[in-house]
Amino acid sequence: MIDAAGAKLWWNFRRGESIWSQFVKAKYCNEVHPVARGWNYKDSHVWRRMVEVREKVEPEIQWDIRRGNLNVWWDNWSGKGALAIWLNRRGKRKAKDMLKDGWINGALDLNHFGIQDQSLAQNIRIREGADKPRWKPTGGGFNFKSAKGLMRQHRNREGGLWCKKIWNKGITWKMSFLAWRVFKKKLPVDDVLRKMGYQTVSKCPCCVKPGCDTLQHIFGMGDTAHQVWDYFSRAMGARILIRSERHVCYEWWMMAFKNRMFKFMADRLPILILWELWVNYTHCKYGKGKPSVTRIIFKVTKDLAECIQRKWPAWDPLPPNFGFIMKRAESFGYGKIVQRTGWCRPRRGSVKVNWAIEDNSCGFFIRNSRGMFCVAGVYSFENGEDIQAVAKRMLRDCWNWGCRNHIRDMCFESDKVLDWEYADQVNSSRTNERVNAVARCLTRMCAGMCIWFLNGCGLPRGLDRVLALEGIPHFVLLPGMDALSR
Ligand SMILES: [Zn+2]
Repeated sequence: MIDAAGAKLWWNFRRGESIWSQFVKAKYCNEVHPVARGWNYKDSHVWRRMVEVREKVEPEIQWDIRRGNLNVWWDNWSGKGALAIWLNRRGKRKAKDMLKDGWINGALDLNHFGIQDQSLAQNIRIREGADKPRWKPTGGGFNFKSAKGLMRQHRNREGGLWCKKIWNKGITWKMSFLAWRVFKKKLPVDDVLRKMGYQTVSKCPCCVKPGCDTLQHIFGMGDTAHQVWDYFSRAMGARILIRSERHVCYEWWMMAFKNRMFKFMADRLPILILWELWVNYTHCKYGKGKPSVTRIIFKVTKDLAECIQRKWPAWDPLPPNFGFIMKRAESFGYGKIVQRTGWCRPRRGSVKVNWAIEDNSCGFFIRNSRGMFCVAGVYSFENGEDIQAVAKRMLRDCWNWGCRNHIRDMCFESDKVLDWEYADQVNSSRTNERVNAVARCLTRMCAGMCIWFLNGCGLPRGLDRVLALEGIPHFVLLPGMDALSR
């Protein structure tokens, strides 16, 4: 949205019809053509915003040539964009060559400007009238919708998977930023410089047997890079064909791994590798270092150990030893014993009685094999009775209720143990307090009462929340007897 607004500014500026655009042009572009001018910190933020979208917007503005008052090098009159960029000509920033100056004897002669490619001059005629910009997405005037569409396209093109991966948590900023520069090809290596017009003899400093000093060599295909990538992909049991750095990173990120730790490592390793390859490169180029694959591998491993430490700070620090880290990753997740601590439904045809004792009250909660409420109740201490006796009476009542309802199988569950009459005959089990929470809460909520709940509606408020934690349906409205043991 902001970019689209910037696009509109740029369009209005380039159209040059308003006083504002003439002012901006006079202010910022007196010497240098607007397409070639960068921004300084002292420039207004409007100008900066315009410059930021320029790269995307300018190629979409093509000029319909009339009088030919167009800059040969910077205005997009040929449909190829700025010729200074397209033909890779340096030193044209301040060029003021006008297209009309090349109009010689009724034809456009590009040799006049030192351009050999005459095909660009085809079908071009200089005649009366003002040169008009055309907004390519609509074929005419600018509109907001098309600008938004354009910006979206750009974002999709740029914002691939790599955009998400390089800013992953746990990686230090300098590493993420370097990865960003690699993916955006914004590093001072020879092939990038060559595109900017510098010619150098290309010889990489990063390998024992030097290759070409290109982005792809340094980060992907070069001897050193190749060995490093190869080491890590083998160590992680991945088969990766190493082509360009981009390709290799994507292969890592798309891979399926067996657990969270492997995934964590695979997401971050490429960034760390890019970083250490770069450190090695600059070390060899500007320092007095010698290329060393082993050193890179060691440092990547150390960086990775640090990432892991940041992610799982409770672990003992891992040594910078990839074999060791791999062992840790292999056993990841097995260290924990998964214990089910939720309430379990009883077998089909039976009911489960959860009971609890809390201070001077005790309570029970009976559910069937579908987890649905059958009956519940709370008993409290009465004169002359101790709570154990009250609890025994309660369990006896539960047992009798089961018999009355022809329930063959009753299962008693509690976090307490009690020796009562049928303790040996019934299926009883001990559980922890958390599993028994429903019975305990009910007891606490109704402390001091003596009460039976024959349907779910009468249960104290708030108990439903405890029940909800168990994640199963609990209530049938008006449970008939047939619902009891289903
Ligand atoms: Zn090299």
